[in-house]
Amino acid sequence: MTGKSIRFLGVGSRWAIVIPVVAIVCAAVAAVIYADWQQSRITHENNRHMVQERLDLVRTKLQGQINANIRLLQGLVSVIGAEPDLTQERFSALAANLLLHEAQLRSIQAAPNLVTAFAYPANLTDDQIGTRIFTEDEELALTRKLREQSRSVVRGPLPLSSGGYGLSIILPVRSVNATAEPVFWGAVTGVIDLARLYDQSGLMTFELPISVVISKVQDAGRTAVIYGDGNIMQQNPVHMAIDFGNDRWTIAAIPVGGWENSGTPSMAFRLVVGSVAATVAGASIWVGLLMLDRQKHDAALRQREEKLKALSHRLGLALEASKIGVWELDVESGENAWDARMYEMYGLDGSQAMTSDNWLALIHPEDQADVSAKVKLAIRTQMSQSAQFRVLLPGGGHRHLRSFGTYYPNAKGTASVLGVSWDVTEDVSLHEELVEARQRAEQQNTALDTARRRMEYNALHDALTGLPNRRYLDQHLSDIEADPDGQGLAVLHVDLDRFKEINDTLGHGAGDAMLRHVARALRDNVRGEDFVARIGGDEFVVVCLGADADDQFGEMGQRLIAAVNTPTSYAGHECRVGASVGIATRTDASVDAPQLLVNADIALYEAKRLGRNRFERYTELLKARTLNIKKTADAILRSLAADEFIGYYQPQFDAHTLEISGVEALARWNHPEMGILTPDRFLDIADSLSVVSQIDARILEQALSQLSRWQSAALGIDHVSVNISAQRLFDENLVGRLEQLDIKPGSVSFELLESISFDDKTDAVTASLSRLRNLGIEIEIDDFGTGYASILSLLKLSPSRLKIDRELIGPIVDTPAQRRLIASIVDIGRSFGIGIVAEGVETMEHVSILRDLGCQTLQGYALARPMTADALMDFALAHRARRESLLKLSA
Ligand code: C2E
Ligand code: CA
Ligand code: CA
Repeated sequence: MTGKSIRFLGVGSRWAIVIPVVAIVCAAVAAVIYADWQQSRITHENNRHMVQERLDLVRTKLQGQINANIRLLQGLVSVIGAEPDLTQERFSALAANLLLHEAQLRSIQAAPNLVTAFAYPANLTDDQIGTRIFTEDEELALTRKLREQSRSVVRGPLPLSSGGYGLSIILPVRSVNATAEPVFWGAVTGVIDLARLYDQSGLMTFELPISVVISKVQDAGRTAVIYGDGNIMQQNPVHMAIDFGNDRWTIAAIPVGGWENSGTPSMAFRLVVGSVAATVAGASIWVGLLMLDRQKHDAALRQREEKLKALSHRLGLALEASKIGVWELDVESGENAWDARMYEMYGLDGSQAMTSDNWLALIHPEDQADVSAKVKLAIRTQMSQSAQFRVLLPGGGHRHLRSFGTYYPNAKGTASVLGVSWDVTEDVSLHEELVEARQRAEQQNTALDTARRRMEYNALHDALTGLPNRRYLDQHLSDIEADPDGQGLAVLHVDLDRFKEINDTLGHGAGDAMLRHVARALRDNVRGEDFVARIGGDEFVVVCLGADADDQFGEMGQRLIAAVNTPTSYAGHECRVGASVGIATRTDASVDAPQLLVNADIALYEAKRLGRNRFERYTELLKARTLNIKKTADAILRSLAADEFIGYYQPQFDAHTLEISGVEALARWNHPEMGILTPDRFLDIADSLSVVSQIDARILEQALSQLSRWQSAALGIDHVSVNISAQRLFDENLVGRLEQLDIKPGSVSFELLESISFDDKTDAVTASLSRLRNLGIEIEIDDFGTGYASILSLLKLSPSRLKIDRELIGPIVDTPAQRRLIASIVDIGRSFGIGIVAEGVETMEHVSILRDLGCQTLQGYALARPMTADALMDFALAHRARRESLLKLSA
């Protein structure tokens, strides 16, 4: 219900009180007025009655008086009727007799035939003798009355000669004539003194409580007042009539002072009635006010009740919706009052009376102690407590409840714990699920973490040896760099010697076993804190922190080499491998860790250069050389642009005729400061700069132009061999470029170093070589016998010639075995139709041996050194001339 309608009701009910109160007050006032009016009316009636009674008395007396006078006069009438011949003396005697009576009669006249003849007392009536008693106007009517009807006539009031007023009473007189027949005699008139009549009728009494007026109707209906105040006639007087035969009087009266004064209720009455009414009205107003007040309170109370109802309704709804149960535990009695929801939550139907004991019994045994402790604590501390516990359901299973109770002194005056409980089973199971989910997530995380760590580990480690890999090394070095602690740092770069041979000869399984052996050997021979990584196929790096002594690492290098050298067996084979070690140590902070690795690499290179299976330290000398290399590299690039690489030419001779059969073009660097430099001074550096193929191209160009020059000079040189680097050979654009050149088929050979590894690119190289052959370019295998390539794989390249390395040629003079080697190479060449060239032919002895062994072509200092193009022209001409002269001599 809205506040407005409540207020409206209040207003309505206020009227319900005000209206009756007003009605009561009005009724009281009306009652007072009515009582007053009624009282007035009763008083008035009483007065009127009193007036009537008094008036009646007055009238009766008046009439009585008059009648008494008439009777007196009737006596006289009787006498005169009997004595019609009356004399004055007799009349006076009779009249005097009458006047003796205490009557009001003042005078008496007798008028035979209605003319006054006798009068008494004489002094008063003398003037009337001889006058008719009636005026002419009256004569007819009154005479008839008297004569024919024998009725008396009363006339008056008439002024009296002696003063005052009087009333005439005229009586008819009858007598009998001589024949005893009744005849009308005349009339007797008595005059009554009105004042005396009034007095004796009680009118003049001072105590008379009424004011009387006597009037009579005159001619033409006019009334004339005979006595009293004529105004009374206008004041609703009490009327009565007095009949005198011919005359009719009206006597009327009102109370002395008028009706108003006499009719008003008494003051006492009014006071009583007024006070009663005032009491009633006052009481009802007071009651009304009290009721209004009460109503106001009632309204407030009702409003509060409504509010309370709404509130408790809302609370009920909230409790219903939230499924919260309410309980109250009486501390003294142990009674536990539950609402319906509590029973519901405990799975009970509500019929059981609850006490603290049987309540506890419903709680899971494991939770009982805690709950009972909480209740006790709440009672002891008189504070709120909350608890979560399980309740055992009658149908089995349990439910989680949370309770909140607070100490409170209840309405009974004893203490109780009032509380609420609600079902948190879902929350608990949700929580449990969450916990489980979190555990699962954590497990997953752990698994993911493990996987991630494994991946990270894999990313940073070499799968074969389990050692850190190149990436890890870089990271390690940059870590060191990020946190330089001023400690000494050493990097040992270990490279296996001829590891490829093991792979090639014993297979990859042996290679892998060897690598694992090496890894173990390295690990076992460094300090615990040292870092060992495998950074390439057969390359390892050891990083040592916190070491100052340089010697220490020399020893370590030696130890590592010895450990690697230890033979290990694989599939019944005893395998051995050598190791070269480059060592770089940091002596000052100017060198960073990555640079140290470069330095170690330089030292390693040096160790290899100096014969392998040894260690070499990075020294100032090496540093200088490195710097020199750098300088040289710059110079090479400059000279390439300046076209300062030029071809030298070394003639090749027919072993039998010693005629010039061809020329090998050899690169020279025409250094601006140092003059002509041989390939050993620049080729490695040019290789590292990847510019060898450019040099090759220059030399080829120059060789071709020289070739045409030689041919036009008819020197008999129509074949040139040029060296081709692996880099150039693998250049995809090589063939395209060569096609641009004017190469006469069979005039150009490409010398390929036997050491070039074709293994992984065999197909590509084979294709490339066949295209070269299509261009008419022949293939020769250079430095044959120094590499490890199998002869079969070399034969696949379909070379036109094999050039036996000068290392193999040199010893043939002294070593028969070496000679046999050459002989077998020659055999192979012969059986496959491949020409054999011997280089490094340094003595004439070599010439004859090689010729005898079956080599077709010879090249070497014994016959000619490499020379400029111009020198070659001169040489060729001179050689031909000499040969011709020799031939002439022999001929
Ligand atoms: P190579 O192809 O084996 O060239 C023969 C080398 O042996 C030349 O050295 C030559 O001067 C030298 N020689 C010739 N006869 C004798 C002798 O009787 N005794 C001794 N001890 N040496 C002799 P050079 O010109 O210094 O060339 C060295 C190497 O440089 C060449 O060896 C070749 O592999 C390479 N080379 C030279 N020119 C070029 C080039 O234009 N391109 C490429 N890729 N490599 C080149
Ligand atoms: Ca060569
Ligand atoms: Ca060679």
